[in-house]
Amino acid sequence: MLELQHVHSFYGNIQALKGVSLTINEGEIISLIGANGAGKSTTLMSVCGIVKPRSGKITFQGQSVHHLPADQIVTLGISQVPEGRHIFPHLSVRENLDMGAFLRTDKDGIKRDLDYVFSLFPILEERSGQAGGNLSGGEQQMLAMSRALMARPKLLLLDEPSMGLAPLIITQIFDIIKKINKEQNTTIFLVEQNANQALQISDRGYVIENGKITLTQNAADLMQNPAVQKAYLGI
Ligand code: ATP
Repeated sequence: MLELQHVHSFYGNIQALKGVSLTINEGEIISLIGANGAGKSTTLMSVCGIVKPRSGKITFQGQSVHHLPADQIVTLGISQVPEGRHIFPHLSVRENLDMGAFLRTDKDGIKRDLDYVFSLFPILEERSGQAGGNLSGGEQQMLAMSRALMARPKLLLLDEPSMGLAPLIITQIFDIIKKINKEQNTTIFLVEQNANQALQISDRGYVIENGKITLTQNAADLMQNPAVQKAYLGI
């Protein structure tokens, strides 16, 4: 479904990705794990068109996307839940959700997806008239995920969904990620510092270090890998 080939991405003179190659198959949950500053967020932002790779190739369902503007990439079926959520704090919950469907015209489909996100997160329906900025951190994460789902993505990019949340909420968020994958057949590309919980719901994982992919294995094998245990699982 998604293929990155030798992607090099920069911020000015700073090279964040140094030839990243990876593949994601339809229906998979894939984790990208790595230390602070390793290049995880830059990988996601290169996929969704916010950072333009200086060289290399990104293809989505066989179509080359690395030169496309971000809105066209959303229309093709890739949505991102950014690190830090970035909901619209002054808009209501419902308006935040409407923004997620901004590029769509299929009213019936939008209504179905609204019902679906409210079934995943009933609290959002209860709070639909409240300003997004008044929600708790966990609820804002739910809103950010729901807003991304309102674009009806085939591929959902999640950047640190567990960041700053209480353990109970984290478990709930990971359960829902798995549920979205199963029920909507949404392929998931997950970036996490919380490698343990991310790998537990993943099919495969990639390790990124200093802008380069250094390891890829089935999630179960990665969790048993002594180097991964030491560096990322705190074992
Ligand atoms: P974290 O978990 O801390 O978010 P990360 O693995 O997601 O880390 P990136 O945010 O992709 O890493 O950063 C990769 C490299 O690019 C780092 O060296 C970082 O300092 C640098 N970088 C990221 N964003 C910018 C920016 N806007 N301007 C300059 N350098 C940046």
